[in-house]
Amino acid sequence: MNASAEFDIVISGGGIAGLTATAAFAKAGFSVQCLDPTPPVTERDTDGADLRTTAFLQPARNLLEAAGLWERLADHAAPLQIMRIVDAGGPKAEARLVKDFDASEISDQPFGWNLPNWLLRREMIAALQDMGNVDLRMGTGTETLFTRAGSARVGLSDGTSSTCKLVIAADGRNSKMRTAAGIDVKTTRYGQKALALAVTHPIPHQNVSTEIHRSGGPFTLVPLPDHNGMPSSALVWMERAAKAQALFNLPKEDFERAMTERSCGLFGPLTLASNRTIWPIISQMATRLSGERLALVAEAAHVVPPIGAQGLNTSLGDIQILLDLAQKTPGSLGDAAMLAAYDRTRRGEVAMRVRGIDLLNRASMVETPVLRDLRAAGLNSLYSLPPVRRMLMQMGLGAR
Ligand SMILES: Cc1cc2nc3c(=O)[nH]c(=O)nc-3n(C[C@H](O)[C@H](O)[C@H](O)COP(=O)(O)OP(=O)(O)OC[C@H]3O[C@@H](n4cnc5c(N)ncnc54)[C@H](O)[C@@H]3O)c2cc1C
Repeated sequence: MNASAEFDIVISGGGIAGLTATAAFAKAGFSVQCLDPTPPVTERDTDGADLRTTAFLQPARNLLEAAGLWERLADHAAPLQIMRIVDAGGPKAEARLVKDFDASEISDQPFGWNLPNWLLRREMIAALQDMGNVDLRMGTGTETLFTRAGSARVGLSDGTSSTCKLVIAADGRNSKMRTAAGIDVKTTRYGQKALALAVTHPIPHQNVSTEIHRSGGPFTLVPLPDHNGMPSSALVWMERAAKAQALFNLPKEDFERAMTERSCGLFGPLTLASNRTIWPIISQMATRLSGERLALVAEAAHVVPPIGAQGLNTSLGDIQILLDLAQKTPGSLGDAAMLAAYDRTRRGEVAMRVRGIDLLNRASMVETPVLRDLRAAGLNSLYSLPPVRRMLMQMGLGAR
């Protein structure tokens, strides 16, 4: 049998969550191997590029700073000062209610900073290549998991294996490590898809993230740095699956007309500035967040519809808690007490966020005029109470 390479931690998955976890644990002094079967696409216009963007909220930035990643990312980030919610649920596709949630009400910092995912991969991988205690294996996946009380052995797709104290599953919604550990998930399907792409527009975004609700799901424009001298935003457009697919297949000019209409013309005519990508929307949660020598993080543990930048930010919350626990008791890395504490600390918080986003998504999908009017009235009354408004903003940033 081949000798097994040894690490403190093996991370299955080199998406944004897996790469961040690798940097965070390596910077804290642990030896880390990170594996992913898919070589990363780090150019915006190459086939397979991840054109989603990530709005890192304030707590996520602290983690990125401690992991030594933020210094490479700051220059590419667009700040998000205001979250604007627009209700366009009336008979015509026009803004009938506009409410601004301004970060200055709760902080001297913006809510967050937005960056494209393909660029995050490029910069994070470059940073990891400079870290001596990281073994980055893009192109090799994890296949099998064998655990004992004292260690775990992970079988890799190249036929070798790695031994470690802790396996972190950051291998996405169909996590192989989660399945290998026999951990179940509960999944909700909405029959909905999201289009993700970049646009340019003549009216500047002024660092405002704008979420427009009509029916089918939110239509969200999140600020990006200018593109070819024009103001630019990332668009996430959620619709019932058949409609989303039809929009995806429209010729460019028709698609641009459709998105300009759905945006209520708030930014002037929208022009495509990237390919279109399409994502199925589900909500999912693992029944427990740890197993023997295994911790689930990010989409391996929970998936939410892309609303309020909660997805990856909740994932970075997982990584922060796991890192705090690993540092609290040296020598306890991956033991039963540490992993039970992780599950206990994290499960309730994650479940609350999954439930909250599920409700917001259902409210945004409603079709009938009565329900749309109720949604607008709900937004109006929540917004008009300043303590509630501030609490919602704090919770959005990750406060418990
Ligand atoms: C349209 C859209 C927009 C979004 N916008 C935001 C936003 O603004 N802010 C936010 O916080 N969140 C956002 N999200 C959510 C966010 O994108 C996800 O939470 C995040 O990308 C999930 O990251 P991940 O690393 O868990 O999963 P993934 O990105 O799916 O990464 C998992 C990785 O694991 C790898 N893998 C699979 N199998 C194996 C294996 N056997 N071994 C090793 N590796 C394996 C895969 O190749 C992949 O690279 C959005 C989601 C969508 C759909």
